[in-house]
Amino acid sequence: MAPVVDTLRLTAEDALGLVERREVSPAELHGAYLEAIGERNDELHAYLRTVETAEGASIPIALKDVISTKGVETTAGSKILEGYVPVFDATVAARCKAAGLTLLGKTNTDEFAMGSSTENSAWGPSRNPWDPALVPGGSGGGNAAAVSAGLAPWGLGSDTGGSIKQPSALCGNVGLRPTYGTVSRFGVVAFASSLDQIGPVAKTVRDVALLYSIIAGRDPYDSTTVELPEPVQLPDAERLDGLRIGVPTQIESLEAIEPGVRAAFEQALELARELGAEVGDCDLPISYRYGMPCYYLIAPAEASSNLARYDGVRFGPRTEAATYREMVERTRDEGFGAEPKRRIMLGTYALSAGYYDAFYGQAQKVRTLLIREHREALATVDVIATPTSPTVAFPIGDKAADPLAMYACDLLTIPSNLAGLPGLSIPCGLSDELPVGLQLLGPQFGENLLFRAGHALERAIGFDTVPTRFRGART
Ligand code: GLN
Repeated sequence: MAPVVDTLRLTAEDALGLVERREVSPAELHGAYLEAIGERNDELHAYLRTVETAEGASIPIALKDVISTKGVETTAGSKILEGYVPVFDATVAARCKAAGLTLLGKTNTDEFAMGSSTENSAWGPSRNPWDPALVPGGSGGGNAAAVSAGLAPWGLGSDTGGSIKQPSALCGNVGLRPTYGTVSRFGVVAFASSLDQIGPVAKTVRDVALLYSIIAGRDPYDSTTVELPEPVQLPDAERLDGLRIGVPTQIESLEAIEPGVRAAFEQALELARELGAEVGDCDLPISYRYGMPCYYLIAPAEASSNLARYDGVRFGPRTEAATYREMVERTRDEGFGAEPKRRIMLGTYALSAGYYDAFYGQAQKVRTLLIREHREALATVDVIATPTSPTVAFPIGDKAADPLAMYACDLLTIPSNLAGLPGLSIPCGLSDELPVGLQLLGPQFGENLLFRAGHALERAIGFDTVPTRFRGART
């Protein structure tokens, strides 16, 4: 039977058009993606589980497995949540449902979204559609692999230190980490609450903007959320006249950035100039020096407190024992993998009496400086541009035994996250035949600006989001 649609190439916007014009029914569309999942998910392991029936009147969506879905198991990639079936939808899942979107399934993630490769998932790693020997990035590698391989038109992920932006870069997708406070986290498995944000992954900037408009806005169930100061605008501009793009001077001397990534980044800047942008310097001296250590105190500290709730009583499996204390200890020992344990220990230490000021308190002060230096930089330029990830996708197993090497994947995505600012990653070319991501950072609530700049650049770059080895395929 001929496929209803070409899921590898179909954008969410085009899919919506097909449904609106009644050329394809929501159920047919859902079925086409399930077929593609049937073909490619065994290899890629993008989905942990799928939903067979389409309940909405619109197009499908994939949700990262940290987002609670009523009646559908939600594990956050952890054994400690195995079998946990939420009795309610996270606000973002509810908003997708209200918009008619049909849930295709839950995508793989590093355990509790802690990681940069999905290798920390208790259910095994996902693989990169461009080359299955490589990681898709993380923690939202399942989403990224799904969108890139045509297993979903779009998806929602979470980004604490880079988990939307970095996998988007490594799989050739567009990903947005929104301004802190614009999207509800109610019903999302918490990692580090002062950093976690939910955001879209898709093939185009317009799709990302569209999905952002569905999920953003105040939610009475999440007191950190606010109403957007202006409605989301779908970008259509082709020029960048007058846009001031700042490249942090510190990028120049960062040895972690691969030459091929640098070359693709430079080319994108050249295109930006041709589109009328002014590309200049800006300064973020604290960000690339202290951003990582600052994040790796704050995020584990908050995680150690958030993960205290997994006690064998409220969620998931329990290991029975003679006493309550022993039951909790054994449940946590058996339920958590190595990375969450490492973070719980780091975080508990950083928060402990006598060390709090020296570690957590100090990191908070550095964070204030970092917020300030971003504000100052964004007073002289409109957007900041950097590569999203210092490297392209790397082989599975390469960094798995070296936590510090894995942490370094987020060198460029962490600073603006600490500052609460929005960041958009778009594919800007290939290096070693693998996608390179360009990260655009803007001021608080500057999403529309990022969409405009990202869209114009995306058109000029003309990146083909279909992984090379699938280009001959029909679906
Ligand atoms: N890789 C980073 C970490 O391990 C970021 C993860 C994320 O954004 N969820 O903490």
